[in-house]
Amino acid sequence: CGIVGYIGDKQAIPVLINGLSKLEYRGYDSAGVAYFSENKIVVNKEKGRLSVLSNKLNGMDIKTNIGIGHTRWATHGEPNVLNAHPHINGDSSIAVIHNGIIENYLKLKEWMIEEYGTDFKSETDTEVIAHLIGYFYDGDILEAVNKAIDKMEGAYAIGVICSKEPDRIIAVRKDSPLIVGVGEGENFIASDIPAILNYTRNVYLIENDEVVELTKNEVKIYDKFGQIVNREIYKVTWDA
Ligand code: GLU
Repeated sequence: CGIVGYIGDKQAIPVLINGLSKLEYRGYDSAGVAYFSENKIVVNKEKGRLSVLSNKLNGMDIKTNIGIGHTRWATHGEPNVLNAHPHINGDSSIAVIHNGIIENYLKLKEWMIEEYGTDFKSETDTEVIAHLIGYFYDGDILEAVNKAIDKMEGAYAIGVICSKEPDRIIAVRKDSPLIVGVGEGENFIASDIPAILNYTRNVYLIENDEVVELTKNEVKIYDKFGQIVNREIYKVTWDA
């Protein structure tokens, strides 16, 4: 029930784990991360406490400057490793983290199985998002996400990375919380402000139906018509 994303010059894994640990109060049953290694997406996920995941990752010496992380509170599919996030599409070029519920996921799932013979690995509503974005992908991950959310009904905050465009994170908010942390040469997404307070106090509060595109040096917020939104920075003056 928490999402975190990082893009910048730091090692991403410790930032993701630290962020997720600040979101533990939201409750969760499993946790996972996705990142790039030699231009491929790698996913690591574990059932149970965040420490199970972080202990595993600590032993791996992962070098990556971009990643997304998730703590899951299962709504569709039992809490297990297969159903934990991130979820990926068929050729593993896209990874998605998601808080919320996709109400029409069964319809979308049946349609993709029928139309494309999509091979679903989990019981989650979330996996549908990864395949949907993959299906729409034609060289521009922002455009693919926009096409996918057009088809999605329900509540979601999502974070997306794509191995073919490893310098971007895309995020969307619809009826599930999402904020952006703005750093210098680094940017963050998270479900809630405490997740990023160790790194920055400059925040964009994302509103419903907004799509965010992050590179390490830039954050662009789009409204549902694709128009750029000029959001004021919110300065966090309190401590978590
Ligand atoms: N509905 C999704 C699932 O069951 C996301 C749950 C969450 O918000 O953590 O995997």
